Parts: sequence; C-alpha cells; structure tokens
Amino acid sequence: MRLGTVLANGRATTVADRAGLLVDLCALSPHVPVGRALVAAWEAGDAGVRDAARVATTADPATLPLLDHAAVTWLPPIPDAGTVFAVGLNYLSHCREQGREAPAEPLFFTKLPSSYNGHMGDVVAWPLTQELDYEGELAVVVGRGGRAIPEADALAHCFGYTVMADFTARDLQRRDRQWTRAKGLDGFAPFGPLVATRDEVPDPSALRIVTTVDGVVVQDAPTSEMTFGVARLVACLSQAITLRPGDVITTGTPAGVGVFAKPPRFLVPGNEVRVRIDGIGELVNRVVLPPPPRP
Ligand code: ZN
Repeated sequence: MRLGTVLANGRATTVADRAGLLVDLCALSPHVPVGRALVAAWEAGDAGVRDAARVATTADPATLPLLDHAAVTWLPPIPDAGTVFAVGLNYLSHCREQGREAPAEPLFFTKLPSSYNGHMGDVVAWPLTQELDYEGELAVVVGRGGRAIPEADALAHCFGYTVMADFTARDLQRRDRQWTRAKGLDGFAPFGPLVATRDEVPDPSALRIVTTVDGVVVQDAPTSEMTFGVARLVACLSQAITLRPGDVITTGTPAGVGVFAKPPRFLVPGNEVRVRIDGIGELVNRVVLPPPPRP
C-alpha cells in the first residue's frame, strides 16, 4: 500500500494511493491518524486502521472519499517525522567521484525538522549559499522501533520506503566541516510523495534511483551499489540510538551530484529536480527565489 499525507480542505489527512486515485483515509474512518501516530497504529495492527486500508483498496472507488490531485498540497508523508537520519558516502560511485574510499562504518548525520518538506514543495535558493546541490536518495521509514535491532530482523522494523532529496549547500558543507547548516537549511529535506509499505518492497537493494534536473538525467544508479544496505544501516544505527516509529533513515546518494560535475553545476531558481524510484514514487521540487525580506 502507498500512504501519504496531504493538506486538503484546511486539514492534514492521511491518503492512500489507489492506482492514481487519492483516497482520503481520515474521511473514510475516524480511526485513521496522521503521520507518526499512523505508523505506530499500523505496526500495532490497529483494527480501525487496517480496516480502513482494506476498504480503500477493495471497495468500489465510486463509494470512496476521493481527493482531487489539483486541490491538495502535499506534506511530507510523515509530517511529524521524529529524526531524519542520513548517511554520507554510502554509494561507491559517489565515493569515487570525489576520490575517496568507502568508509569502514556508516557515516551518520541528521537533517533538522525545519528542513522537512513535501512533494511539490518549493526549495528556496537561500542567499547564504551559492552552491545549491541535489542528492537523490532512497529513504526508509522506521516502523517498529527498538534498540540493538539484529540485522536479520531489521527489514521487519521498517514501515516502508519513500524518496528523499537531500538538498545540500556545498559551500557551507566545505566551510563548516560538518553538515548541520549545509544540509539543514529550511526546506532542504523534501520527501515523499508517498511511503510504499514494506510488503510492496521485498528487496530494497533491488531498486533504481533516477534524478533529473529540468528533464536531464544526472543520477541513475541501482540501490545494490550501497556499501551498507538498509538492514545493516538499521542495525548499526540502533546500536547507538533507540529508533522510534516514524523516524526516517535516508540512505545516501549515488554519483552524479552537481559539485563533482566538470565543470561543477549548481541549482538556480527555476530548476526542477525530480527523484524517481520505480515502485515507490517520484518526488518533484522546484528551486525558487527567496521570499522578499519582511519589513
Ligand atoms: Zn545525502
């Protein structure tokens, strides 16, 4: 099942995708929560939520509360995601394009809640950076959390999979020598549009990520290229940190980012970045000018 969150008629509501139709699950059932609470209820096998999901996928669409794509604003599929963990240098091709060895252990960092953004959300080219870059990534939404999760059980702890665009200010990344600002600017973590639940993705290492900028393919790589696969990342991270339902782990980017192009090319207002993972979805974001300063 593919689940997400949209703003419709002034409220945030959980939606399910039914072959392109958007079913309003909160309108279908008062038992369906939004975001982290949905993940927790889903994993707990909550009867109301499972029932609504079943009806949304099997009932005659004419009897379902549907939302018009044109009338909704996409929020991140987990708008109140707990922590968004990210992983640096996790694709061999991305290590090679910068002349680095693959790390011996996963290199974790985090994206800030103020950076969370949705499908079709604007990404502001903040004046603080002259080197705005994209990173297309597969992201995992944690389902059943836990600490010290064994690698063999780790995929069963994933609620599902989505698409992340890890926007990065390369000049800040270089100057700060750590990545809080560079990857944490407001709006720099769009993800979605939907989460494909884990039953739809039996093998997260058998996917393909394609990123385009204004229609030109800039990244195209199999997820099998990851040094540390999803199960390993969940296992490693949970050795240090208790994972909670609705946390997100974005798993790193392959080669093809703008900073290592020859010559480097950075994003400017008007560019449209699309990150597509077949079977999961396509995330679209436009780069825009900063809003005028408030008086
Ligand atoms: Zn990244």
